[in-house]
Amino acid sequence: MYWQKINYYGFEKHRYDDCKKLIHDTNYTHLLIINSWLLLMTITFMILCLMNEFGVTRRNFNMYYSFMILSLIFEVIIIAFKKFCIRFATFFVHASSIILIVFGIFSSVAQPYLAATMYLVMVVLLSVTYIDTMIRFTVLLIFYCSVFLYTSFKFKPHSLAELDMYNIIVFLALSLILHYFFQHNKMTQFYTLQKNIQIQRDLEIRSSFDTLTDLLNRARFFAIADQIIKDPIRRDEFLAVCLLDLDKFKEINDKLGHQMGDKAIQTTSHIIVEALNIDMFEKWSFTERAVRDKFSIAGRLGGDEYIMLIRGQKNMDDVKAILDSILTNLNSVQIGELSGISASLGVTAVTDDDKDMDLIYKRADEALYQSKDRGRNRITIN
Ligand code: GH3
Ligand code: MG
Repeated sequence: MYWQKINYYGFEKHRYDDCKKLIHDTNYTHLLIINSWLLLMTITFMILCLMNEFGVTRRNFNMYYSFMILSLIFEVIIIAFKKFCIRFATFFVHASSIILIVFGIFSSVAQPYLAATMYLVMVVLLSVTYIDTMIRFTVLLIFYCSVFLYTSFKFKPHSLAELDMYNIIVFLALSLILHYFFQHNKMTQFYTLQKNIQIQRDLEIRSSFDTLTDLLNRARFFAIADQIIKDPIRRDEFLAVCLLDLDKFKEINDKLGHQMGDKAIQTTSHIIVEALNIDMFEKWSFTERAVRDKFSIAGRLGGDEYIMLIRGQKNMDDVKAILDSILTNLNSVQIGELSGISASLGVTAVTDDDKDMDLIYKRADEALYQSKDRGRNRITIN
């Protein structure tokens, strides 16, 4: 348990998992920054090589050129396949780490008569930049540093290799401490942000949906419907608004009990959602998606009354066919003693003159009244 907490920078695993999206997004941004930096640095070194300036000699040109090409390819991949890259951010983070570490090792070997500085920079840079898991990062960093020391002792004079060894011990310890505390702070921020997002989503759902039916509540339905109707890019889209009220619902309550009444209300909403093919996934983003993705919406006005804004149909005949199927399905409901639900519907098309829901609602209500008046369990078009 203790080790697990250290591994996730002082957090429980499930808290770390909750923040995965934020972790991947941040790692991706850092990936872009670090790789762009490497690209610019290798180009600068190539120019210095050609100029034979600042102790950078021409014979290192090929090495800088190779890393410039490598970071350029990597840059193109991470920009072109952004979504893929964010999804597999951990893999790309490690690929980037390996490029940086190998660059640090090659820079060290390219100047065998100097103590390695580039490698030390890379180790510290990696530790503050990427967030992974503490144990994996520690193991990998120790492995990379061992490889670095091996090359130092193989290609550099013994005294310089020893100097590299002292430096790397100091910098490795510093990097691991920095890594833990930097990433712990990042995780604290992510966790707070994630919690706020969750609270916001819960609030959005609670203020938008009716608890019994999971349909939109009255206020939110009208707000979304108004937004759709007023949308200037709606153009020639055919829209219809329909009111549905269950017939003699009081009798269901009285004869079969309130619980069965509730069941009838819920069943009606399921039938509506299915018939209109409403996407109820991720309810917190429903409002945004309903306007953008052009799907029908449905709400419960209260009691046994429902309202629908039907989209995606060509004309009133198509809308009528959907409403017919809703009525047929309601009539054939069988739950215990409840045999068939009867309902009256009133529907109206949205015209170009309709600027908000007020008049549309009035027309649909008149049509509903006519359905009730003419004997119930029918659809009236106004
Ligand atoms: P009509 O055909 O004229 O519509 O007759 P009705 O009996 O359905 O009359 P109305 O629509 O006015 O009645 C709605 C009833 O719905 C009144 C109330 O007792 C009941 N009701 C309202 N909300 C709920 C609820 O959440 N659960 C249950 N079980 N009943 C409810
Ligand atoms: Mg009723």
